[in-house]
Amino acid sequence: MQYRKDKNGNELSVLGFGCMRFQKKNGKIDIDEAEKDIMEAFNAGVNYFDTAYVYSGSEVTIGEIFERNNIRDKINIATKLPQYLVSNRAALDKYFNEELSRLRTDHVDYYLMHHLTDVAMWEKLKNVGVIQWIAEKKKSGAIRNIGFSYHGNTDGFLKILNDYDWDICQIQYNYFDEHSQAGVRGLKAAAEKGIPVVIMEPLRGGKLVNMLPASAKKVMANSGRGWSPAEWSFRWLYDQPEVTVVLSGMNTVEMVQENCRTASSALAGQFTEKDKAVLAEVTEKIKEQEKVGCTGCRYCMPCPKGVDIPGTFRCYNAMYIESKSEGRFQYAQTVGLTKEPAFVTQCIGCGKCEKHCPQEIPIRKKLKEADKALRPLPYKIGINLVRKFMFRKSKTNNTP
Ligand code: SF4
Ligand code: SF4
Repeated sequence: MQYRKDKNGNELSVLGFGCMRFQKKNGKIDIDEAEKDIMEAFNAGVNYFDTAYVYSGSEVTIGEIFERNNIRDKINIATKLPQYLVSNRAALDKYFNEELSRLRTDHVDYYLMHHLTDVAMWEKLKNVGVIQWIAEKKKSGAIRNIGFSYHGNTDGFLKILNDYDWDICQIQYNYFDEHSQAGVRGLKAAAEKGIPVVIMEPLRGGKLVNMLPASAKKVMANSGRGWSPAEWSFRWLYDQPEVTVVLSGMNTVEMVQENCRTASSALAGQFTEKDKAVLAEVTEKIKEQEKVGCTGCRYCMPCPKGVDIPGTFRCYNAMYIESKSEGRFQYAQTVGLTKEPAFVTQCIGCGKCEKHCPQEIPIRKKLKEADKALRPLPYKIGINLVRKFMFRKSKTNNTP
């Protein structure tokens, strides 16, 4: 494993374990599988584990695993304040104490304000007294480093970055998103201030692996490098010295091993001009085919009317990246036949989703387009018939 330093000189593994995609069993996190994955990573030198209050079951699971294996003092826990739920100072303590209890620890190494999308959110926190609260927690040692995770545009990122003496920040960044959200401008600005940058969504929610069009895979294969699509993504990030830790939501031992291999060998400054040209071509190939730039982050959810927004966009994109029939098939399986209907036609146009979308997608417009493509009349009739059969005892599940 290779390590890069934080603001205080502590060594952080360049690969961080994103604890939001553990395998599930009977609807709950499979703790035995999670333990195997975590311990594989720990034994390979991973020392940065990222979770959040709202990652269902995650804090409790990793707290138990760290305690069982007696490794709490050998690793760093990064977790996050659900700032969108905070309306007064008492709530800061409430959530933080609950997180300490779930994590079975008396301190958090890196505590981040979760999912800031503009400076107004940070101002709201300042108004409830967060700055004094942070000072007290840092003085007591309950919080070692303070930071924020970010999903808005570059200007908003720079404003928040420059408004406080942060210890760390976390941004969405990958070769496809080099210029969106905080982007390369935000990355470099943070690095210039000596603030370590943790990268989330290095594979764009897995899409830079699972949904790469055949033409893009061919470009990679013809490069002669022999790297997998995931390795291309990670190597592009590690090439940049401004990147400190790259998070990966790992949920198999094989995935941990592959990512650790890459993290052990990829150095900053190793990417050649030819490598960069390969990824520029891959990006073009993806853009040619993608219909909506949805990363599947789910910040737009839940929709008050039950519309499955990311699910609809995923299938819409699959129609163009894979094939029309595959996209429609996936839609019927994952959106069309859920017990609670999740169709675009349930949308009342309230716009709530668009306020939360970090990609600034005109969701209402794109949903209409997607629905038209995914459910032409014969499919609509077919899905309706299957629904009537599957849910025949219920009167509330008709296709809208
Ligand atoms: S605009 Fe439509 S899809 Fe978006 S939150 Fe409102 S009802 Fe849901
Ligand atoms: S529509 Fe926007 S907020 Fe919703 S999942 Fe996609 S990228 Fe995320």
